[in-house]
Amino acid sequence: MTQGQMRRAVVTGGAGFVGSHLCERLLERGVDVVCVDNFATGSPDNVRHLCGRAGFRLIEADVTRPVWVTEHVDLVFHLASAASPVDYLRLPVETLEAGSLGTRNALRLARAHGARLVLASTSEVYGDPLEYPQRETYWGNVNPVGPRSVYDEAKRYAESLTMAHHRDRGADVGIARIFNCYGPRMRPDDGRAVPTFIRQALAGEPVTVAGDGMQTRSICYVDDTVRGLLALADSDATGPVNIGSAHELSMIRLAELVRTLTGSDSPITFVGRPQDDPRFRRPDTTLAAELLGWRPEVAMDEGLERTIAWFRERLGTGASEPPQ
Ligand code: NAD
Repeated sequence: MTQGQMRRAVVTGGAGFVGSHLCERLLERGVDVVCVDNFATGSPDNVRHLCGRAGFRLIEADVTRPVWVTEHVDLVFHLASAASPVDYLRLPVETLEAGSLGTRNALRLARAHGARLVLASTSEVYGDPLEYPQRETYWGNVNPVGPRSVYDEAKRYAESLTMAHHRDRGADVGIARIFNCYGPRMRPDDGRAVPTFIRQALAGEPVTVAGDGMQTRSICYVDDTVRGLLALADSDATGPVNIGSAHELSMIRLAELVRTLTGSDSPITFVGRPQDDPRFRRPDTTLAAELLGWRPEVAMDEGLERTIAWFRERLGTGASEPPQ
């Protein structure tokens, strides 16, 4: 679907971190947005500035129940799911249901309108990867009964269900495998490394790095991630397509960078690593470049500075938890 053809989009999970940025970009393109969220891990505060704006509607609803939108819909972005380890370990069954029942309902909604569905999947489908960097052809290394499986397997099932609807029922779908993404509107207590390090550094508390800090992630600024989701929506690619930054860094390096950019003299301390925590994470983004003409544009220092500025404005102080 080309940009001009898109008139109205449903964004499930639109009141979350990534979803709220996606709603903003869609409205900027002149696309009406129906944001569906039950606020399990998001908040109406994330989209309060959009409420009352022409073309934006917020519906409080749980996507594990059928979701119906009476106006015609061209696109459904299915983002509704707990996404941070702290959240999905707190909401294990809800997370599995958002990936299974929620994806079923999002697909049904899309099919009822003849709309394209874009599924927000995750690099976690690769588990603790044995292939490096991770290409879309890699099947993953996931512990199906470990605590993290509630997220990993929910997304693997969501991908499988989406492909079955595509193959068997002709659904128009695109699957994005999103790698770690960061930016304004992450919750300071969501347990992910970037907000945790920034909160701790700004509060002058110890910056807590898990394990020896040599595990790596590739972090992508949210504006780039959202551009990737929109590029996938605009294309007719089915995917899955990796959407992430190929700029990999260790968690200890990230902690040092945050300390420098915040001007903090917080000490760096080490805490235990969570079970099944992946050691390496780096996407091969060749497919995204070829199929979608997409590549990240925001340099890491720039993205972190924007995120730090946002946290500085809004942050209170709080107790530290180790990042996961
Ligand atoms: P988030 O927790 O900020 O947003 C998720 C939103 O979904 C929240 O607003 C939450 O209230 C809503 N939600 C959860 N269950 C729901 C339900 N049953 N019904 C309706 N709404 C529900 O997380 P995020 O970081 O913005 O992630 C958004 C999506 O992108 C998720 O699907 C996540 O798996 C995927 N993703 C994110 C990242 C990342 O680094 N942020 C990486 C990979 C994949």
